[in-house]
Amino acid sequence: MRLLIPILIFAALAPAQAPQTVALTHATVIDGTGAPALPDSTVLIRDARITAVYPASSRPLPAAARVEDLTGKWLIPGLIDAHVHIADERGEIDHFRDLLGPLLLAGVTGLRDMAGDARVLTYLAREARLDSPGWPDIYYSALMAGPTFFFEDRRVPGASRGVLAGAAPWLRAVDETTDIRIAVAEAKGTGATGVKLYANLPASMVKKISEEAHRQGMLVWTHATIFPAKPSDAVEAGATTISHTPYLVWEAAPHVPLDYRSRALENFTQIRPDDPKILALLDQMKERGTILDATVRVFAENVRRSPDSMGNGILPWTYAVTREAHQRGVLVDAGTDSQGLVDVKKPDAGPSVVEEMALLVEQCGFTPQAAIQAATQVNAMAVGKASEKGAIAPGMIADLVVLSADPLADIHNLRKIVEVMKDGKVFRK
Ligand SMILES: [Zn+2]
Repeated sequence: MRLLIPILIFAALAPAQAPQTVALTHATVIDGTGAPALPDSTVLIRDARITAVYPASSRPLPAAARVEDLTGKWLIPGLIDAHVHIADERGEIDHFRDLLGPLLLAGVTGLRDMAGDARVLTYLAREARLDSPGWPDIYYSALMAGPTFFFEDRRVPGASRGVLAGAAPWLRAVDETTDIRIAVAEAKGTGATGVKLYANLPASMVKKISEEAHRQGMLVWTHATIFPAKPSDAVEAGATTISHTPYLVWEAAPHVPLDYRSRALENFTQIRPDDPKILALLDQMKERGTILDATVRVFAENVRRSPDSMGNGILPWTYAVTREAHQRGVLVDAGTDSQGLVDVKKPDAGPSVVEEMALLVEQCGFTPQAAIQAATQVNAMAVGKASEKGAIAPGMIADLVVLSADPLADIHNLRKIVEVMKDGKVFRK
């Protein structure tokens, strides 16, 4: 009897009908893999997943499918922003509603948060999965850094409010005496899927933490230079992504400081973008499959806002090395190091990730096709979800954006959104 009651309740709540097939017909499909666009195509979706993609005229539609005619429209995978900070100081739910709802409607179906308050992020990630509010999926990191970082960085108190600085499992001070197995287990316990190695750690610690994180099934996301650990140390340790192109400069610097605070202050006119050590590093990244989380947009923004805080020549160097990386076949993702929207108060200004993609096209030699691949397939790889996100193909989850203008003709057309689909559900303004 005890068993029977839950079964009866479940039967009463179960939907009466099998899930309906949705057919998106006559769309130009840009599948996110960098392959040429497929004109006049049909995409079938059933139960939140894509089941087929084929030329519209090649077979009849399944009986009883709900048909949406997308003649004259473009279909891309949902965009992911591989580098946001949404939960640093703010904790009010109204703020997140104002941010995350418009982000989804702007075509962003996933976010990777690169260090914030995991207590807030856990809550937001759960709400996003329940899908009642219509928010992007949220993947997030637990940060580790050397103890000195926690006294230096002004962002720490806000993101670990109520906990001693450096003692929070999502913002953890580590050194040679730390039990790394426990620290990684506690990081995983926050719901984070990646450990972010940020600052003030030697190569030996980067290696030790990365090995343990991988052993416990977590990804490793690092800053490009971790001071004094160099980019090649992070690549060698098996990092999935390394963040911020300009910090690659330290690979070729005669001396790497122990402290991260001078990270943007190398003289970028002394070390050429084609310095043999930089090129060797890029080739090492290609060979290891390390993704460059270039974040060019934030440096353009910082140079505009406060040029004195940035090293001489940082921006041309950033563009040149990102271009070189792409040309050499290094995977480059699209991350913005922002809160996701250009301006929360003006959601019509669109998502920051479109600005990042535009800079990849306009400054770093990407085709629009490649920029879309960066924000979809490569970003899905960055969050460890490439088997089910970031591409339009059978078996993938139906996170899709319908556009009214061709993004290959002009990358800014990514702002011309008709509707967004997440897990097969449609969201419109
Ligand atoms: Zn960041």
